[in-house]
Amino acid sequence: MSRFLLILTLALLTSTVNADKPILSLVIDDLGYSFEQAKKVINLPGQHTYAIIPGTTYSKKIALYAHQFGRETILHMPMQSAIGRKIESSALHDGMSEAEIADSVLTMIRQVPHIKGINNHMGSRMTEIGYMMRPVMETIRNLNHSFYFLDSRTTALSKAYQQARQAGLDALKRDVFLDVNHVNPEAITFQYQRWLKKSKDKGQAIAIGHPHPTTIEVLAEKLPETLVKYEFKTLSQLIQLQQQETASWPKYLSHWQQDSKNSKQ
Ligand SMILES: [Zn+2]
Repeated sequence: MSRFLLILTLALLTSTVNADKPILSLVIDDLGYSFEQAKKVINLPGQHTYAIIPGTTYSKKIALYAHQFGRETILHMPMQSAIGRKIESSALHDGMSEAEIADSVLTMIRQVPHIKGINNHMGSRMTEIGYMMRPVMETIRNLNHSFYFLDSRTTALSKAYQQARQAGLDALKRDVFLDVNHVNPEAITFQYQRWLKKSKDKGQAIAIGHPHPTTIEVLAEKLPETLVKYEFKTLSQLIQLQQQETASWPKYLSHWQQDSKNSKQ
């Protein structure tokens, strides 16, 4: 009996220690144009999530490589931006009908094997339009209800998260972009520290970075130490955790949380 109590105490202590560690999720976007670049980020220490642009030269090869290494991948879905920046020809744009959006979403999803979810590439125009995001999310849900959507939040007015939740998909939002300035290591380090602080403040934080040489250098230098002090989760692990937390709440609180999430932007 005393041995049982000892094991129980140890188990409780361990779970308390883990619960105290802030949670970080790292997503590397824009993969598909260089296999060498992708190999570098896939081999960074820790479990992260890799976002692949469909229809690019190495999209399939990278998806298979990441899968082979047990890495989580998502589809990085191109969407029209507000400032008319050059974007992939497959990008969803505001001139499309609902049927064209659905077709395009399905084509893109089929181009990248083994994905667990989707996030938007650019999209500062498209994600602001609720009636454009609705068919995107409904098509994803109808194809595979277990896909999640990460709103990259390339605009503060994005409706992507809200529309994903309304369609019944699991959804997340990006907290920090690591490398809007991707040439200056100090700027990336500053954003990296903001990411850690956010996770300490609210328990978890999602960062998006890109496979630029300076970003890779900063990540390779900082990740080993961060892996000791923080708990890293892929996006699907983060969603699992949120579901467990919601399930352990009393029923009336779960409803309240659902409502409050749906009412947010
Ligand atoms: Zn992107």
